[in-house]
Amino acid sequence: MRLHEYEALDIFEQNRIPVPRRAVATSMHEALQVAGEIGYPVVLKAQVLVGGRGLAGGIKVASTADELKDLAEALLSSEIKGLPVRKILVCEKVEIAQEFYLGFTIDSYSGKPVIVVSTEGGVLIEETARSAPEKIAAIHIEPTFGYYPYLSRSLLRRLGLNQQLITPWSDVIGQLYNVALRYEALIAEINPLVVLPNGGLMAVDAVLEVDDSALSRVRLPLPDRIDRIENPIERRGREIGVSYVDLDGDIGLISSGAGLGMASMDIIGQRMKPANFLETGGGITADLLYKCMELVMMKPDLRAIFINVYGGINPIHEGAKGVVRYIHEHKVKIPIVAKALGNRQEETWEIFRSGGVHVVTEAATEKAIDRLYELVGA
Ligand code: GDP
Ligand code: MN
Repeated sequence: MRLHEYEALDIFEQNRIPVPRRAVATSMHEALQVAGEIGYPVVLKAQVLVGGRGLAGGIKVASTADELKDLAEALLSSEIKGLPVRKILVCEKVEIAQEFYLGFTIDSYSGKPVIVVSTEGGVLIEETARSAPEKIAAIHIEPTFGYYPYLSRSLLRRLGLNQQLITPWSDVIGQLYNVALRYEALIAEINPLVVLPNGGLMAVDAVLEVDDSALSRVRLPLPDRIDRIENPIERRGREIGVSYVDLDGDIGLISSGAGLGMASMDIIGQRMKPANFLETGGGITADLLYKCMELVMMKPDLRAIFINVYGGINPIHEGAKGVVRYIHEHKVKIPIVAKALGNRQEETWEIFRSGGVHVVTEAATEKAIDRLYELVGA
């Protein structure tokens, strides 16, 4: 899960990394108020989860209140790389003597943490890697050995850094490493890490991406992560514990496995358009399938539903009861086709049929989709 810049900056600040004075605003009036408190000039930064906002027009400098009104208004009604800007961060504009790069990531080859530094900041690190690889240095950290400040000091010396900068730089590296460990980050990045005219360092931008697999144990100082999902159907899917991805077609899909779901989606996609991907996981109950029906039916203009479930560890006859209960209670009119194979399949078919579901008993998903196609028409 990638955090917004303003969230990452708060976390950096809590871990003693120097950051600019700032506050988020969701309206021009809020932005005006924040800027008044900080003092002009201010930098307005679109809070969207993409990099390279500067080049895409998402970073603006306002020197006066009048300028800020226009810029904030324009930013808040714009899209950056296709993402709507709902919040802007209003920051004090700091004077920059020099821009550096500092990043933490997990090396995918060794699976170990790596810290990357460069004297070329403010630009894409990938570009520096191509054009001036000698300006990048990295430390590979042995997890059982850990991080020690001398590692970063020798790294910075290798880059030929000015002696006065080595201690503050090394402090920031240690602090960023702590953040990364504490929040189980896949990426923690400061680009640019700037040198101020007084020689101090400051993180002007912040990226923090937490490993999704660690979210159950990491305590993030943020609203519940379900609240962060913007699509209401996807949010509901997370609440009931299924994997749901919203798509723009009109054929609903419920499957009991990721592979089964993806295959179904592809075969539907040959002649029709899937409305969603939904995977129940291994915990099918009548109640869960009832809720899956509810979820899929949240989508307006659905033309049909395809249910593709396999009864291995899953009690599919229980699932069928939930589907049929939903059909009866909500008087569902659109066609539903089910392919249900495995443990207690005959019983499952009977239950589905009692709800008017079209049961396909062949093993090939293609056959079931043929049936669906006949029912829906071109
Ligand atoms: P990104 O383009 O999404 O990486 O956004 P950044 O937050 O890194 O901002 C892009 C660029 O804007 C930075 O590399 C800086 O050059 C510039 N910038 C951002 N904040 C300030 C600031 O407070 N003062 C100055 N002078 N430049 C800034
Ligand atoms: Mn940046």
